[in-house]
Amino acid sequence: MVHDPLLPNITRELLLPLAIRTNRRLAKAGRSRLGQNFLVDYDVAKRTVAAAQLSDDDDVLEIGPGKGALTRILVHRARKLLAVELDPDLSDALSERFAEYENFTVVNRDALDFDPAEYFTDRYKIVANLPYYAATPIIREFLASKPRPKSLVVMVQKEVAVNIAASPGNMTLLSVMVQLYGAPKILFSVPPRSFRPMPKVTSAVLRIDLYDRPAVAVGSPDSFIEFAAAGFRAPRKQIRNSLRLGLDSDADPIKAALDAARIDGSRRPSTLSLSEWASLYESWNGIPQD
Ligand code: SAM
Repeated sequence: MVHDPLLPNITRELLLPLAIRTNRRLAKAGRSRLGQNFLVDYDVAKRTVAAAQLSDDDDVLEIGPGKGALTRILVHRARKLLAVELDPDLSDALSERFAEYENFTVVNRDALDFDPAEYFTDRYKIVANLPYYAATPIIREFLASKPRPKSLVVMVQKEVAVNIAASPGNMTLLSVMVQLYGAPKILFSVPPRSFRPMPKVTSAVLRIDLYDRPAVAVGSPDSFIEFAAAGFRAPRKQIRNSLRLGLDSDADPIKAALDAARIDGSRRPSTLSLSEWASLYESWNGIPQD
């Protein structure tokens, strides 16, 4: 009998929003906090846009266009280009600068409050040099948005790119989440000198090609992700202990789920592949709970 996988202390609140709420507060705190490291390297801008492999019928969403380093290339390549910029001065300047382009619209909005369905009926491509402070919540937000993007080409802090594209042995909740929806690939690194002001960290351009449906059949992706979040509750502990904490469960049902999924409970959460997480989730759902 399949029981509802009650995850009493694992809610969406725990998954994304802590970062998002913190970041929203930051975003509202002022321009100096908006991650405004502007790209000044034209070659990097060209390579980033090229990575999106745009064809004549591709619509593009650019998040955080800033002063337009990518915008000025994208506007010639996209059928329709919609830019979402939080800083009103920058969005006003872009609106003036690209006024003659009928395919261009800039919206002064927080990307985390942006609903793509207001502007796109079909799938579109995202191209963005993301603000470091909000890169992860923005990526997560758009992976499952409706309509969904076809792909995301994003410039992010290199560590974040590595984390997203990790393989079993180095998996995190972020890699599980992203790889459920798409195939990430790190394309190239971008040094601090390519930006003004120069950041302290190296960046990387990452492309995520989104699947038509989640990579593993898990019924509800949201509840699967909540389950994986429980599994990563104590990432340095063995999976059986981390899950016990995350699910607030007795040891027996956890052991039964691990056995049914043929996963050694002494492994660390980071070693499980996406399909192992899916098997474990399915077997947890099939374990009778008291
Ligand atoms: N694309 C430009 C470039 O490559 O030079 C600017 C990139 S800069 C790293 C990030 C941009 O995102 C800034 O223009 C910043 O104002 C904007 N931004 C920051 N937080 C944002 C948010 N929550 N929603 C939309 N734009 C945001």
